[in-house]
Amino acid sequence: MLQLIPLITGILVSLTAAYLRIGLRLWTAATAVAILGAGLLAGSHWLAILLPLLGFAAITVPLNLPGFRRARISAPLLKIYRKVTPNLSETEQTALEAGTVGFEGQLFSGKPDWSELLGQARPELSVDEKAFLDGPVEQLCSQINEWQISHELADLPEDMWEYLKVNRFFGMIIPKQYGGLQFSALAHSAVLQKIASMSATVASTVAVPNSLGPAELLLHYGTEEQKNYYLPRLADGREVPCFALTGPYAGSDATSLPDYGIVCKGEWEGGNVLGVRLTFDKRYITLAPVATIVGLAFRMLDPENLLGDEEDLGITLALIPRDTDGLEIGRRHFPLNVPFQNGPVRGKDVFVPLSQLIGGPEMAGQGWRMLVECLSVGRAISLPSNATGGACAGVAATGAYARIRKQFGLAIGRFEGVEEALARIGGLTYATTALSRATAAAVDRGEKPAVPSAIAKYHATEWGRQICTDAMDVHGGKGVILGPSNYLGRSWQGVPIMITVEGANIMTRSLMIFGQGAIRCHPYVLEEMQAAALPDYGDRLRKFDDVLFRHIGFGFSNAVRSFVLGLTHSKIGSVPGDAYTRRYYRKLNRYSAALALVADTSMLVLGGKLKFKEKISARLGDVLSYLYIASSMLKRYEDEGRPVSDQPLLAWAFHECTWRMQMALDGVIRNFPNRFVAFKLRALVFPLGRREVPPSDRLGHRVAAIMMAPNEARARLISGAYMTPTENNPIGRMNALLPEVIAAEPIERKFLKAVKTGEVGGLDFEAQIADAEAKGILSSAERKLLEHVRSASFEFISVDDFESEELRAAVKKKEPKSLRSVA
Ligand SMILES: Cc1cc2nc3c(=O)[nH]c(=O)nc-3n(C[C@H](O)[C@H](O)[C@H](O)COP(=O)(O)OP(=O)(O)OC[C@H]3O[C@@H](n4cnc5c(N)ncnc54)[C@H](O)[C@@H]3O)c2cc1C
Repeated sequence: MLQLIPLITGILVSLTAAYLRIGLRLWTAATAVAILGAGLLAGSHWLAILLPLLGFAAITVPLNLPGFRRARISAPLLKIYRKVTPNLSETEQTALEAGTVGFEGQLFSGKPDWSELLGQARPELSVDEKAFLDGPVEQLCSQINEWQISHELADLPEDMWEYLKVNRFFGMIIPKQYGGLQFSALAHSAVLQKIASMSATVASTVAVPNSLGPAELLLHYGTEEQKNYYLPRLADGREVPCFALTGPYAGSDATSLPDYGIVCKGEWEGGNVLGVRLTFDKRYITLAPVATIVGLAFRMLDPENLLGDEEDLGITLALIPRDTDGLEIGRRHFPLNVPFQNGPVRGKDVFVPLSQLIGGPEMAGQGWRMLVECLSVGRAISLPSNATGGACAGVAATGAYARIRKQFGLAIGRFEGVEEALARIGGLTYATTALSRATAAAVDRGEKPAVPSAIAKYHATEWGRQICTDAMDVHGGKGVILGPSNYLGRSWQGVPIMITVEGANIMTRSLMIFGQGAIRCHPYVLEEMQAAALPDYGDRLRKFDDVLFRHIGFGFSNAVRSFVLGLTHSKIGSVPGDAYTRRYYRKLNRYSAALALVADTSMLVLGGKLKFKEKISARLGDVLSYLYIASSMLKRYEDEGRPVSDQPLLAWAFHECTWRMQMALDGVIRNFPNRFVAFKLRALVFPLGRREVPPSDRLGHRVAAIMMAPNEARARLISGAYMTPTENNPIGRMNALLPEVIAAEPIERKFLKAVKTGEVGGLDFEAQIADAEAKGILSSAERKLLEHVRSASFEFISVDDFESEELRAAVKKKEPKSLRSVA
């Protein structure tokens, strides 16, 4: 044993150095000194010192000799690397170059620097933004009658359109100099959340002009003339925009669009000018039926070389005024009973001058880059905010309903089965609101959060769907029967819309989150690819060698960190936070190391094939997503002053995230094509097996309790929703009644007990309550409160009924156009 001391000490010091991620030279020196020192101190035989030293030197000396290392190790590896690494398509290259890397880069590092996250300023609304939320947005919400919009008008009422325009709801992202509101992303998100808590139709209508479309594109790429003309008109609603990219043949694969524009001369406003003659067929275009200006993506062709040598200029963006000859616009699609304006846009030989290209002729062919560069900002806000607003309303509605609705003599929320659904609603809403806030804050810091925006879009909408389904289940028949008193059914119907738009979710998860994340957020992969592509061999080898060996050290460190943190079940390491959250930071450290290790191994073993192994890539994306979401929750907890009352919500959502992270990693390893590598990975990632568990029933009970009574944590959770108890807002009114419902509960229990034991007689409630008062079982005040709560609650458990004629569509039906054309 004595003779093994130098070897064992050397291994331990080497692993510790890797865990701490110190540089190659220091690692070499520390390990050599440790072997020598331990051997001398322990009095080991000289051979027991020399042999480990020689073995160690055989490995490390070549690594520490740059010339030798480059020629003998890096040069052959560079050759292989260039052979196996797939060339990126232009589209992929554009996607990678667009956007910035924020804290998500730390999560990919295996050793996150938490000070980067916690040092970010707490997101705050300005005085003007608060005033807008408390003024025009409150006023708008008080006017929203969702049944009228979704069933009677299939549109917003005229005066609501006008109100939105006059109050510049369509100009939230437009600077004040052009007459817009110039809101922060946080305010933009808060406005959408509040509206979405009342109506998905109104929220979608407001979201689109503020998302990726003419205004955003003009702001970044428009000519001065275009900005000066269009932005003031877009800000005050004189122009209603839409943006048309998708068509029957180009959906998820938007770059394959067949729509084209031929450069030619044509008539425009009385003159003969150079322009493009456009032929296109677009569908699903939000706001198209009412749009006055259509943003269009098409492929620009110049067969007569009127602009230069190139014949296929590539994807280009143009603005087409509604009254342009040949533009066919106005018919509507009907997206799942959520009747925001959406429809096809078609055109044949529609001529527009080059001045209508966004950015003018200089930006011809730059359309895809323009779209991708702007995509992340809109995607970080519109759908995550809409989903969050719906989730907040889901908490407020379902928590209150579960307390008001009684069955078997108890509020239904008291039953464990219902409690389970309530806990999911509360926990996932906590996570969703934190996520939505994090991505909005990233935009406000000037980031273009390409990866977080995909995470936010996917998870907020998927969790929105889960929350809506749970809310429906808790409401039973009340959720199913449509009518003015149903505040859930339409949202539930419309949830798949959010899943589809701005990139359908299956592709977002399988291709975007990790596909982009792995290359963008990884500390070395992009640098390696760029190094391997350098034109000069000497530069290429030097740079590649440098990045490669930093990458190898990184991989080794992650393997050690993953193993050690797994072995200690994330119990070690210095982290920020309080007594409650320190263990959470440690867990995230562990899974960050595990993600970095498994992601690196996947890229190394699968190479270019990883792109097609979508199930592996999606699961790795899940791990990155849950790390990001969990970090956002910790930041939220810190920003809000570590409120103790939020801890059950944080804990539920955190356990859910870590459990899902574990299952995603397990899924990757279980399905990893190379079984030998999978075996090794399992040992490093799960040395003690899978120890994470989903949130416990006890925790779920605490979350459900928060949801069913007014309290500080609940108020914070639903703060994004419109809660004023107006006539059109049953959720607000139900919540206003909640304190009285709770105050009446002990009285009701006393009363029901007396009825059950026969102390109180009478055939119905009225007779029984009168008897209870007469017999002194209830005081007159108690009787009054019970009667009041019973009659006030009746509205919330009631559903609507209709005459048959009322349910028939009032207009004479026409066949849908697509079917007519087939016939
Ligand atoms: C209500 C509504 C509003 C919209 N508004 C607009 C708008 O204003 N402007 C606009 O231009 N577009 C708009 N869209 C279009 C929207 O962006 C597309 O629907 C979306 O891009 C998906 O295209 P698709 O529906 O043709 O699905 P498809 O492309 O046919 O995809 C079908 C399924 O296959 C999956 N899939 C496809 N490729 C892959 C892959 N490589 N890996 C894994 N899964 C894959 C998708 O995720 C999806 O689940 C809207 C759509 C809807 C429904």
